[in-house]
Amino acid sequence: MSQDDCIFCQIVDGDIPSRKVFEDDTAMAFLDANPLAPGHTLVIPKEHHETLEETPEDVAAHVFGALHRLNTAVEHAVDADGTNVAFNNGEAAGQEVPHVHGHIIPRFEGDGGNPIHAVAGKRPDLSEAELDEIAEDIHTQRD
Ligand code: 5GP
Ligand code: ZN
Repeated sequence: MSQDDCIFCQIVDGDIPSRKVFEDDTAMAFLDANPLAPGHTLVIPKEHHETLEETPEDVAAHVFGALHRLNTAVEHAVDADGTNVAFNNGEAAGQEVPHVHGHIIPRFEGDGGNPIHAVAGKRPDLSEAELDEIAEDIHTQRD
């Protein structure tokens, strides 16, 4: 399952060192090497999956469970006032490492950072009809 040219697979295999904060059979978490805040943590499935779409639901649910528990641990460890929890999912969304990973980014009152609303481009101007159509399309695309 591991891919030779994937940095995070090499971290899982112990071939690249990391500051590991959690590991079980399915998931692993370690400190980001270039942190946006103290405690910035990445949570990954140990199996190589590039994006959320490619990650089986049971693996994704397990990763989210770990992420949920770690979020509390990270907040307490660095005495954060909040966190941004996010996946850069796909190259267009800014994903640089093609092994799916959730970011836990601690936030502090007055840290000068931005909310998640700031990540996308210009807000689209959508009519009620367009919103209805998008909602219907998403509904019919579900498994
Ligand atoms: P992405 O843009 O793919 O969501 O974020 C990738 C993250 O992985 C970045 O925040 C970057 O600092 C982190 N990163 C990249 N290479 C390494 C590494 O070798 N070790 C660790 N611990 N983090 C890394
Ligand atoms: Zn990988």
